[in-house]
Amino acid sequence: MAYTVTLIPGDGIGPDVTSATRKVLEATGVEFNWEIAEAGAGVMAAQGTPLPDSVIASIRKNKVALKGPVTTPIGIGFRSVNVALRKSLDLYACLRPCKTYPGVPSLYRDVNITIVRENTEDLYAGIEYEKGTPEAVRLLKFVTETRGKVREDSGISLKLISETGTRRIVKFAFDYARSNNRRKVTAVHKANIMKFSDGLFLSVAREVARSYPEIEFNDVIIDNMCMQLVRNPRQFDVLVLPNLYGDIVSDLCAGLVGGLGVAPGANIGEGLAVFEPTHGSAPKYAGQNKVNPLATILSGMLMLRYLKEFEASERLENAVAEIIAEGKDVTYDMKTDKSAGVGTNRVAEAVIEKMKE
Ligand code: NAD
Repeated sequence: MAYTVTLIPGDGIGPDVTSATRKVLEATGVEFNWEIAEAGAGVMAAQGTPLPDSVIASIRKNKVALKGPVTTPIGIGFRSVNVALRKSLDLYACLRPCKTYPGVPSLYRDVNITIVRENTEDLYAGIEYEKGTPEAVRLLKFVTETRGKVREDSGISLKLISETGTRRIVKFAFDYARSNNRRKVTAVHKANIMKFSDGLFLSVAREVARSYPEIEFNDVIIDNMCMQLVRNPRQFDVLVLPNLYGDIVSDLCAGLVGGLGVAPGANIGEGLAVFEPTHGSAPKYAGQNKVNPLATILSGMLMLRYLKEFEASERLENAVAEIIAEGKDVTYDMKTDKSAGVGTNRVAEAVIEKMKE
């Protein structure tokens, strides 16, 4: 059976890394019909938006997408193409496995942390009021009346964390742990200070945890979490975090396991999933056959797993692990000796050769 998958090349280095990934995925033997959907800077002029409705419609229809990074144009309607995409499709769970493959440029060994980041709420949802606008003035007046005087020249960002949003993301984290034989889930928060947002997140997480007695549960305050991750990341297994902490800790963990070049990701909703690397569009390297495609190739590996093509996903992951361990056919960012590394396309060819061996 061939899978019809929406392919969003994106812009910047997006087309480089997605075309490499497409070749690798096709070489697994799993059949794909790619439905190309253009988003990002390239379609702005023709369509007047970086995220045409047809892109959303294609993902809704096919249920699965592979996406390259997209530059967010500054000052035009959209706060971010990526935030808009996640919101319109309610892709509420951002899954970011962070694993040290032997040979990656990292001080750490045997790290295997999966980040489950809530993708739709929190400060990151972008509910903001600009200083001096009537809405901001009204809100500040209300705060002054109910909480005491606040500065009138404040800008406002609202942090909304709901019980329903928390319940579904924590449940997602535990279901992921259960079906992937993971032993522990850690909820990350700052409930000691933000009692009604992070406090709610924590109390719902504790309640959900009771339905999964076979999985260990603990919670760690975000600042301590950052310190613990740097000192001893191996104590952690699955982390579940509100949106903003999840964003920051994702990059921290990518740093622990070799950098953005090897950090894959997925955005998952009810029956829909978009697979994409953690990194952005790195415009200065666009079209140069230079950047590391492994983060996108590993996102493709996650897509194979999601499609229950377990044998192909394992073969692909093993091939990537071997390429990294050998350290020969890797890009500049994987070299510890400052040598140039091979090009994007050569990495893809090497992965394909390994899968055939
Ligand atoms: P970035 O991830 O694009 O680049 C930061 C640096 O990381 C690059 O200069 C490069 O040195 C390195 N890097 C990134 N990907 C690499 C790869 N595959 N191989 C080797 N090195 C790599 O982050 P940025 O510069 O902050 O953002 C650029 C644009 O990307 C912005 O417009 C931002 O909004 C967008 N962005 C998009 C997404 C997405 O589409 N999901 C995610 C993050 C940022």
